Amino acid sequence: MKKLACITLDMEPDYGDSEKRIRLLENSEYFEQYVSIINRYDAKVTMFTVTNLFEKYGNVFTDLATRIPLEYSVHSHTHNPHNACSLEEVQNSKQAYTKFTGKIPIGYRAPIGRIDKAGLGHLLDNDFMYDASVYPSIRPGEFGYSNLHMPNIPFRVTRSDGKSLIEFPFTAIEKIRIIFALSYAKLFGWGIYSLLLKMFGLPNHVLLLSHPHDFYFASIPNSTVTGAEKIALSRNSVKAFDYFEKMIQFLAKQKYEFVFISELYQQVEQMPLTEVVWENWK
Ligand SMILES: [Zn+2]
Repeated sequence: MKKLACITLDMEPDYGDSEKRIRLLENSEYFEQYVSIINRYDAKVTMFTVTNLFEKYGNVFTDLATRIPLEYSVHSHTHNPHNACSLEEVQNSKQAYTKFTGKIPIGYRAPIGRIDKAGLGHLLDNDFMYDASVYPSIRPGEFGYSNLHMPNIPFRVTRSDGKSLIEFPFTAIEKIRIIFALSYAKLFGWGIYSLLLKMFGLPNHVLLLSHPHDFYFASIPNSTVTGAEKIALSRNSVKAFDYFEKMIQFLAKQKYEFVFISELYQQVEQMPLTEVVWENWK
């Protein structure tokens, strides 16, 4: 089986920023560092975009797309974790995506993994071909989940009316189920994180998770994030670009080919996949 890796970037306002800015796009130093890492490894970026940003940031996105291989996907319309995959969000995001790109969206990622049965139903009704929202791991707290029963590889969600879509869960390091995300590499530090990567490895199909704020979280002024969460997210903040490059380098050394999720979809669709019946979605 071919080893394929997708670099995903959840394009959303900087977390905890009262000004709702996106410094990765506004700060030319960040922007250029990002572009150069992607190009150094011939990587490709699938950008899950909060679709109400197309209006304000459309020109910057278009600029980014001239600098790196970039495909758009949907990351809800408003990025409200309390309304992550309602019919309204799904329809509004589809409309905004189509208006900006001239194409019908094929994929959706709900804010902080908050997909549910109803949301998957809305995606099926609106002809989405994949969802990429399930964390196959555990997270405590208000927006917590316990998904260790979920596969760590793509699976198919089928509904009795014959409709189906492919779920691309966030990739976790095998066995220990720690998410392959820049934020987790920063939390653990590269020494420990890279050791875990080498010991347990990744599946053949990988999605790397990152957000703009992961690259400079500790430098966001007047952050509304406090306490333990602030401490966790601030760890190794100045090393973020370096860690991001190390993660991509790890994939390159392991002979992964970098592809868009739409390309991964074409491959995976041909394969026999585990099927999960939508009617039984927990
Ligand atoms: Zn998000």
